[in-house]
Amino acid sequence: MSYEELSYGRRVARKEHVCQSCGRRIRVGHLYSLRVYKYEGDFNAEKLHMRCDAELQLFSSEGYGDDGFNFSEVHEFIEEVLREYGHVSRERREA
Ligand SMILES: [Zn+2]
Repeated sequence: MSYEELSYGRRVARKEHVCQSCGRRIRVGHLYSLRVYKYEGDFNAEKLHMRCDAELQLFSSEGYGDDGFNFSEVHEFIEEVLREYGHVSRERREA
């Protein structure tokens, strides 16, 4: 298992792309993140909505995905985070 990040930055979409996390369109004129990396010897260019990129960064910052992941794991993690926040606000309302 080898992963090497080669470049990472924000771009403005000059043509439409498809977000690799949520599968929805990245529209022309919108910001997206572009991460170019080498994984197991293959080059990949990953394009994500800024929001989807933020989800991925939160996922990584919690220590997940260090040895590979797929986006469904990221989505499950984010759902869990949202459930926790929802739980907190419910408790606050009851207090
Ligand atoms: Zn997305």
